[in-house]
Amino acid sequence: MIIFGTKGAHVRTEPLPAVTCPTCTVPETLQLSVFSRYAHVYWIPLFPIGKPAVAQCTHCLSAWEQQNMPLEVRGAAQELKEGVSAPIWHWAGLAIIGLFVAWSAVVGAL
Ligand SMILES: [Zn+2]
Repeated sequence: MIIFGTKGAHVRTEPLPAVTCPTCTVPETLQLSVFSRYAHVYWIPLFPIGKPAVAQCTHCLSAWEQQNMPLEVRGAAQELKEGVSAPIWHWAGLAIIGLFVAWSAVVGAL
């Protein structure tokens, strides 16, 4: 049995100045977080498969995923997503496979 699936890890959180929370109407309480989703086999990350973004109000704790975000936040979410990349350890599984293939080729050539 092969255990595989997807997991996510937090990458970056930034405040959103000059934006008012649409739920509690308190200004400058929204923050934007970007996560990195990755595919894994036996809990070893293989490769990243997406960067979901979430906006949250630090005052009323309302939260929105990107498709439900207030319109004035979506542009900032897209910019933040483009500015971050997945952590290098999300490629660990492919790196291990690559090293194994390289090692096999070297051992086979001897
Ligand atoms: Zn709020």
